[in-house]
Amino acid sequence: MSESLTLQPLEGGHDCHDPQSPTATLHPQGVGRGCPREHPEGHKGEAVVVEPTSRQQPRTKADKSATTTLRLTEIFLSLQGETSRAGLPTVFVRLTGCPLRCRWCDTTYSFQGGETVTLTSLLARVADYGVPTVCVTGGEPLAQKNCLPLLTALCDAGYSVSLETSGALDVSKVDSRVSRIVDIKPPASGEEARNRWENVAHLTPHDEIKFVLANRADYEWAREVIQAQKLAQVCPILFSPVQGELPPAQLAEWILADRLPVRMQVQLHKILWGNTPGT
Ligand code: SF4
Repeated sequence: MSESLTLQPLEGGHDCHDPQSPTATLHPQGVGRGCPREHPEGHKGEAVVVEPTSRQQPRTKADKSATTTLRLTEIFLSLQGETSRAGLPTVFVRLTGCPLRCRWCDTTYSFQGGETVTLTSLLARVADYGVPTVCVTGGEPLAQKNCLPLLTALCDAGYSVSLETSGALDVSKVDSRVSRIVDIKPPASGEEARNRWENVAHLTPHDEIKFVLANRADYEWAREVIQAQKLAQVCPILFSPVQGELPPAQLAEWILADRLPVRMQVQLHKILWGNTPGT
């Protein structure tokens, strides 16, 4: 790929050039979705091939951030309600979209809609909150390819970053500075078949595995998985009861009876504010 090109593809498949090619093609005027680049004078409609020249500068990190976009459902400041970071003031970046449909999902409003934002503007909005801890969540944030540069940019900016992911997509490319909170979906979720077991080999003690459990069958399934995959040797393990289905005290009793090496958690934010978007 030529480093001297300044032309880049736009979001949404608007590929102005083949990234493998040393040349780039400008669209005829009026063609494409609001192509922001200037067209040569007198250019009446035919495609124009532009050869890279020594005057064209490599794109800077700022250039890339200004043209990298993500679909955002919401951004807000709250207390982290789960994981080992529970209780910490945290900026939540909730990205839009999820390829799963867990039966008990509590963020179905993130499946679609949202607003398109640039990475630059998103970083500025995070900075406005003035706290050092950021959680990127969804939906399934990794369903957007630009989630990876977002995570890296947040780490580069000095934030302590966590990522909440369904466990159905590859987590191996996530910046190693990010704490990955990876779900393992039990049978009652309806999405057990989506578990990407290869992810386990990529996890470190810096990450966490989360089981959300709806009933005794889920609990026993999770207990078997922990033993079979020796998960307690991989990273901390979280057990959460599905709200309104499994009483937290019941789950606590099962964990204690079995001496399971897991951290039981209830969702602090729901205790404080109920099941409300933006909390
Ligand atoms: S992975 Fe998360 S956001 Fe997606 S359906 Fe399941 S609970 Fe909802």
